[in-house]
Amino acid sequence: MADQAFVTLATNDSYAKGAMVLGQSLKNHKTSRKLVVMIGPHVSDPSRAVLRRIYDEVRLVDVLDSGDSANLAMLKRPDLGVTFTKLHCWTLTHYSKCVFMDADTLVVSNVDELFDREELSAAPDPGWPDCFNSGVFVFRPSKETHGKLLQFCTEHGSFDGGDQGVLNAYFGDWATTDISKHLPFIYNLSSVALYTYAPAFKQFGSKAKVVHFLGSMKPWSLTFDTTARRVQGDVEGASSHPSFMLEWWLLFATSVLPMMKQEYGDTPFHSGCESSVHLSISQGEDISGAASLSSLERKHKWEQGQADYMGMDSFDNIQKKLDSFLK
Ligand code: UDP
Ligand code: MN
Repeated sequence: MADQAFVTLATNDSYAKGAMVLGQSLKNHKTSRKLVVMIGPHVSDPSRAVLRRIYDEVRLVDVLDSGDSANLAMLKRPDLGVTFTKLHCWTLTHYSKCVFMDADTLVVSNVDELFDREELSAAPDPGWPDCFNSGVFVFRPSKETHGKLLQFCTEHGSFDGGDQGVLNAYFGDWATTDISKHLPFIYNLSSVALYTYAPAFKQFGSKAKVVHFLGSMKPWSLTFDTTARRVQGDVEGASSHPSFMLEWWLLFATSVLPMMKQEYGDTPFHSGCESSVHLSISQGEDISGAASLSSLERKHKWEQGQADYMGMDSFDNIQKKLDSFLK
């Protein structure tokens, strides 16, 4: 087990927050594997300190300083910067097998069984299911594969400009050769599926093991009201189920933020958390008022940001709902 690891990547402090939550979620679900985060030089010292508290290994990767084949490849294709950085996971040869997870993923159940799979195992992309989504994949670190990937990248570029295009072209037989390399969708569930195939999401969504907040809106692009325990902003635009988004923020606010406060000390940082105390609401009235709302009306109110958080939508009730949803 000591030679197997979950690996993620954060090139800046925003993605570092995602990595903190991901790492903490893996620990909360009692993984027996090592945790590795690859960071870029722009990640600040206090963020590195927090990552060191969560991860077994915090490894600085900088393609421009590496002076090896990566450096050469990078000089030829500067547009593929972050892509090259992700491919560096193949250099972690002190592990025999790894699972890469994007920093915008969240583990909602133990997923150690992923290590039973072989390279390259991944789940279908919701947008083009003949391609795999590169947010979660099983791989075997190897200098040789790393070199070949960089060479492939330099010669052919990436059809989508990112790592997913390169990896799908390189592991081009994924769709057709070996079904055991198709991870079930619940190992990389994005709520794009919620909109494109709602009945399936209703049927299988509760079995989710890994949630992926893919797209330009990330959990950390939103803000969280710690008093109301409510995510604020365009939750739907973040293409995520509200309960998963809430789970990300609860984990951030309760486990990660205290560590950040300690490590940042007097240095200001953007937590995305704010506390609002709504004194205007009379608790008694609110509960009786909300109780008479139909569930559809409640849903609309919720979506308009008017959750009845002192009554029916109180944190205790949300937690119960989350627990039953995830059971
Ligand atoms: N990433 C990063 N810095 C960036 C962009 C991406 O560290 O500026 C890493 C991070 O691990 C992220 C992954 O690359 O999860 C893939 O990018 P992203 O998740 O934004 O792509 P999406 O899943 O939305 O297609
Ligand atoms: Mn992602």
